[in-house]
Amino acid sequence: MSYFEKVLIANRGEIARRIIRTCKSLGIRTVAVYSEADANAPFVNEADEAVCVGPSQAKKSYLDIEKIIQAAKETNTDAIHPGYGFLSENPGFVERCEQENITFIGPSAKIMKIMGSKLSAREQMQKANVPVVPGSEGRIKSLEDAVETAESLGYPLMLKASAGGGGIGMKLVHSREELESAFDSTVQQAESYFNDGAVFLEKLITKPRHIEVQVVADHASNVVHLFERECSVQRRNQKIVEESPSPFLDEDMRTRLLEAAVRGVKEIGYTNAGTMEFIFDEDGNFYFLEMNTRLQVEHPVTEEITGLDLVEWQLKIASGEQLPLAQADIQKQGHAIECRLYAEDPESFFPSPGKLTTLQLPEEKVRLDFGVEEGSNVSPFYDPMIGKIIVHGPNRREAIANMKQVLSQIEVEGLTTNLALLERIMENEDFVHGDYTTQFIKSLGLEG
Ligand code: ADP
Ligand code: ADP
Ligand code: MG
Repeated sequence: MSYFEKVLIANRGEIARRIIRTCKSLGIRTVAVYSEADANAPFVNEADEAVCVGPSQAKKSYLDIEKIIQAAKETNTDAIHPGYGFLSENPGFVERCEQENITFIGPSAKIMKIMGSKLSAREQMQKANVPVVPGSEGRIKSLEDAVETAESLGYPLMLKASAGGGGIGMKLVHSREELESAFDSTVQQAESYFNDGAVFLEKLITKPRHIEVQVVADHASNVVHLFERECSVQRRNQKIVEESPSPFLDEDMRTRLLEAAVRGVKEIGYTNAGTMEFIFDEDGNFYFLEMNTRLQVEHPVTEEITGLDLVEWQLKIASGEQLPLAQADIQKQGHAIECRLYAEDPESFFPSPGKLTTLQLPEEKVRLDFGVEEGSNVSPFYDPMIGKIIVHGPNRREAIANMKQVLSQIEVEGLTTNLALLERIMENEDFVHGDYTTQFIKSLGLEG
C-alpha cells in the first residue's frame, strides 16, 4: 500500500506543524487550512498548499465542517488529519469525510460516537471488565433523579457532561445544596459547549493520579499499547506537565493497567491511535475515565521513550497497513517529560494573548513543538498554548535536570506566561520525588 499523496490538516498551530513534519518525511504533500487570524502563522507557510477557510472565530473556520470538506475537494486531498481539539472528536465530520471518500485519519464515525460519549464509553468498558469510576448507571435525566442517585452513591461527586472535554463541563459537588445549584448550569454548559446536555454522576476519587495509556489498533484487529503517560500536574482539570513512565506505577500495576487498556480497545474494535484515560486512587486501584479518540497533546513523551513516530503510525493505519510493530517489539527507554508553555497568568491561569516580542529557545537536548515564532501573535481566539518543551533522559532524575536547564535558557517577552511556574514545578520536592496527585497545583497555593 502506498501512502496518501496529499493530506489536509484540519487544525492549526503546533499540531499542524507536527503533522506536516511527518508528512514531509514520508513524501506526502500537505494542505493547510487557516483562519484570517492565522494568515501569517508558520504552519501556513510550511504546508505545500494553504486554503483560507474563514474568519478568526473557530466556529466560522476551523469548526466549519463544510468549508473544510470544500477545501479538501478543491485541493484533491486523499485524507484529512484532524489533530486534537476542533473537529478531531466530531463524528459528524468523520461521516462527511466518509461520504466524500476522503480518508479520515482516526477511527470510524461509528466508533467515535460510542467512545466520544463518556456515558456509552463507560458502558462498553464495563462489558469488557475494565473498571470504571463508580457512578450513575446512565444519564441523569432530572434534578430529582440527580438528588436520588447522589444519595445512594454518597458525596462528594463529580457532575459531568457526557460529551465534555478539555476540563470543561464538570462540576465537583459536596452536598445536596451544591448539586441543586450546579445541576441546571452544568446541563446548560454541556448544551452550549458540546451540543449535548447529557450529564451523569461519578464518585470523586480523592488524591487521584491521572495516568493514561497510548493505544494503537489497525484494521486487522491488532492492538498494541505504547506504555503510559502520567498527567497529574493539572490546573482546571487540564494538564500542564506530562511524563512517561509514571513514577507511581510498579511493574505489577503497570502490567495490569496496560492489559486493561488493550482489553477495552479490543472489545470495541477500535482503529487508529487513541488514549485510554484512567484515574488511580490512593490504594492503587484504577478506574477508566474516558477515551480520547485522537492524537493527544502530550503524545511526544511517548515518542521520546519509544523512538516511534505516532503520526506516521496513524497515516499507515489509515491507509490500510497493519501495525508496524508487534507488542514485543515495542520497547521503552529512559524517561521523558513535557512542559506546556502557555500564554496565561501563572496564578489565575487566565489566558494572556498578545505579541511574542522575544522568543529565544535552546537548541540542544530538547524537542520543541511550537506553533509560533518570535514576532508571532498568540491569538485570543484559540487555546493560548505557546508550545511544548520535551526532554528525554536515561532516568527521571536526569530528565528533570535536563528540563530545568532547558527552561532556564528560554527567553520569552511580550506577554505573560507560565514559564516561572514550570520552573517551580521542576524544583518542587514532591514533584522531584514523584510524589504528587492532581491536587499538586493546589498544594502550591494556586487555584488549580
Ligand atoms: P489532551 O486531552 O490531549 O491532553 P487537552 O485536554 O489539553 O488535551 O485538549 C486539547 C485541546 O482540545 C485543547 O485545545 C482543548 O481546549 C481542546 N478540546 C478538548 N476537548 C474538546 C472538546 N470536546 N471540544 C472542543 N475542544 C476540546
Ligand atoms: P475531559 O474530557 O475534560 O478531559 P476527564 O473525565 O478526562 O475530562 O477528566 C479530566 C480531569 O478531571 C481528570 O484528569 C481528573 O484530574 C479530573 N477528574 C475527572 N473525573 C474525576 C473523578 N471522578 N474524581 C476525581 N477527579 C476527576
Ligand atoms: Mg480527559
